[in-house]
Amino acid sequence: MTPSAAAVARTLFPQTPSKGRVYNFSAGPACMPESVLEQIREELIDCRGSGIGLLELSHRGTVYDRLNDEAEAACRKAAGVGSDYAVFFMPGGATVQFGLLPLNFLGENDTAAYIDTSIWSHKAYSEAARCREVTIAFDGRALPEKYSRVPQRGEFAEPKGAKYLLYCQNNTVEGTTFWAPPETTLPLIGDATSDVFSRPWDFTKHVMVLAAGQKNLGASGASLVVARKDFLASATKRIPQILRFEDHANAKSILNTPPTFAVRVIGLMAEWTLSVGGPEAIAKNNAYKANLIWNAVDNSGGFYSWPAEKWCRSHLNVCFRTPKPELDAQFVAHAEKAGLFGLLGHRDAGGMRASIYNSFPVKGCELLADFMGEFARKNG
Ligand code: PMP
Repeated sequence: MTPSAAAVARTLFPQTPSKGRVYNFSAGPACMPESVLEQIREELIDCRGSGIGLLELSHRGTVYDRLNDEAEAACRKAAGVGSDYAVFFMPGGATVQFGLLPLNFLGENDTAAYIDTSIWSHKAYSEAARCREVTIAFDGRALPEKYSRVPQRGEFAEPKGAKYLLYCQNNTVEGTTFWAPPETTLPLIGDATSDVFSRPWDFTKHVMVLAAGQKNLGASGASLVVARKDFLASATKRIPQILRFEDHANAKSILNTPPTFAVRVIGLMAEWTLSVGGPEAIAKNNAYKANLIWNAVDNSGGFYSWPAEKWCRSHLNVCFRTPKPELDAQFVAHAEKAGLFGLLGHRDAGGMRASIYNSFPVKGCELLADFMGEFARKNG
């Protein structure tokens, strides 16, 4: 990291939690900038001088209209897409989106392909497989170490005529990431739930990028969708409107009563993203933070390990385990005593996971790295 990037990390980004709060490494819902939380607190009582609180605001009024427009504008700017793309919000998280994709885009005889690098991409696949004949284009479960890497260039099948190819941009549970969208001739869909706006990313390589709200976008209960308008128009009309992506886009995210609170929080988080320098500045800060912890893994003389291959290690979810599950449990308990919370790994992967999304403070990563060193010395 260059000195200037380090300086940015130390000024614009959150540092230490205020009194009574802890370092929250939760995978999602996850920590948010306190400046955003404070603004939400204010708006909960009186939103924009309307005399009405954010949760009480009609979704058909001018105040909410403005909040909705601003959220779209900030996300559009952070995504860097033009008018050929729709940017909108839908109720529910990523799993809802996984279910809606085949309903919208796959006729009874159509197929789609899934790059399976994680439990989440597998979930996307298996939800679609309940109603359509879909295929696995890359099987990360079959690697010598399950889900230890993403495919290399061209290392996946591209079934002819497939209506889309889905991949998970950052694998939240496995600690791996794609450093660029896979090159393909198929219409590409990215699940950006755990990496949205965390780095410069070419959204225009995709027909759709979706992201549930509860990590870099703040609140659970809604998802951001960035999608090419012609792709949205290709969806069948023989499903209820409320399940159709294009109808949500055409209604500007107000097809029915939307999750107004979550949409406002997404808007504030997108504005915060831009205020600290956008995905580019965030990527530098995230790399600095992640390397502190990955280095603690590498410098532990083998005490900490994780199967993720180095070249595709995530900068958002840093995972590691000690030589014994009993020690993992001790690690988590002792870390809490040191003010470091939420480090227990996903139930399917075990070990520890430090989720350090865009607004997670640098200081928390330094403290965790120090704590790891000390714990290894005492128990190694
Ligand atoms: N995709 C990814 C990459 C995730 O990290 C998650 C949840 N952590 C999901 C999908 C599922 O999201 P949801 O719980 O909103 O359905």
